[in-house]
Amino acid sequence: MESSRIPGFYNKTVEERRELLTKLHSFTEEELEHLNSKEALPVETADKMIENVIGTFPLPLGLGLNFLINDKEYVVPMAIEEPSVVASASYIAKIVREAGGFKTEATERLMIGQIQVVGCSDFQAAKQTLLNEKDKLIVAANDAYPSMKARGGGAEDLDVRILNEDSNSTYGKMLVMHLYINTCDAMGANVINTMVESIAPIVEDLTGGKVYLRILSNYADRCLAKAKCVIPPNLLESEGFTGEEVRDGVVHAYEFAASDPYRAVTHNKGIMNGIDPIVIATGNDWRAVEAGAHAYASRYGHYGSMTTWSVDNDGNLVGELELPMTVGIVGGSIRVHPISKIAHSILNVESAQELAQVIVAVGLAQNLGALKALVTDGIQKGHMALHSRSVAIAAGATGEMIDIIAEKLVSEKEIRVGKAKELVEQLTK
Ligand code: NDP
Repeated sequence: MESSRIPGFYNKTVEERRELLTKLHSFTEEELEHLNSKEALPVETADKMIENVIGTFPLPLGLGLNFLINDKEYVVPMAIEEPSVVASASYIAKIVREAGGFKTEATERLMIGQIQVVGCSDFQAAKQTLLNEKDKLIVAANDAYPSMKARGGGAEDLDVRILNEDSNSTYGKMLVMHLYINTCDAMGANVINTMVESIAPIVEDLTGGKVYLRILSNYADRCLAKAKCVIPPNLLESEGFTGEEVRDGVVHAYEFAASDPYRAVTHNKGIMNGIDPIVIATGNDWRAVEAGAHAYASRYGHYGSMTTWSVDNDGNLVGELELPMTVGIVGGSIRVHPISKIAHSILNVESAQELAQVIVAVGLAQNLGALKALVTDGIQKGHMALHSRSVAIAAGATGEMIDIIAEKLVSEKEIRVGKAKELVEQLTK
């Protein structure tokens, strides 16, 4: 899409938004059919995806707007049930684009497959043997999945650690081999698991030990994506607060999260509010991303903030977010779920690395959205106004009644299901 700025999108009806999107983006016939279909995921497809299917569980799909990342425009599909997340991400993206947009980068894309070996008579010697036979093991791993090597990826490296070396327990002492695999544009779980399972017998032969676990690690600390934004304080000004006050509040809020796990968990949950919806919309495994992200937030020995916020020499607010980002643009359910296919089409990323970078930029935006609200009006003002519609629906409102009741709840400053039920009764008498 030429621009991710679509003024007035918020005020349009769903049909008008779809029409507008169709004008701005060239969908295929099939994509259009699914976008307009009432059944986003056909139950026949769902039945092929998991076991014991009885139906599907749809989520709202919204668009995060205004994202300018490395000078490219992104319209970001977000699947989430929580009100205010999409609005907040779009609002912050608009501020950041005025400051030049997000700058992002990604490291090499090496995923980790682990092999656990126990019962070696000499663990140090076993470790050395595996390291000496590195080339042979890498060739064997790639023979188990030649197509990945053929496309420029595959197993590239390995290392070995001994855990609990001084343990006297029968179970504690073990050798762990890491196989590093470039999974190209796939998340790669199945590729990795195939490789480690296939070389396990060779590892047993070489070490004289017994292999138990052979599985990928979701702590993918060699598959990282990083986003940064630099915002002059004048862009942070908000009603009743100077830009400098907001900037300083954000840095104080960050220091709180960096120092206190009780705050860090909630701070990071807010970041995942931005990350999970795009991971879900693009058909990726959000449990894998969540697990890796929280582990990475503990990499210095204690659980802390995923983001950092500071003030540079020119007085600008500087935000950074770096996380393991094990997402793909192929594989798993990505090309199976019709809406995931549409999400990829809208997002228009060309590689898994590019997708990973967009995701961390959205996470950084979401974090600033939450912190800016928290250090100014508090989050309830904006959140509850948007939440009022869910409250009205929970109270039984339907059709046009939803907005009428939601507005009344906001104007009377009583956004409660009990109050909404009273209003529904009054209106349906
Ligand atoms: P797939 O098993 O679908 O593998 C992706 C396949 O896509 C590749 O094997 C490759 O097949 C093909 N492909 C086509 N083009 C490319 C390209 N450019 N780059 C890379 N591959 C390409 O999916 P994944 O291995 O990615 O597995 C992801 C799934 O695994 C997720 O759904 C996840 O939930 C699940 N999972 C997660 C686990 C975890 O996180 N702990 C554990 C187990 C499963 P070919 O080479 O033959 O063309």
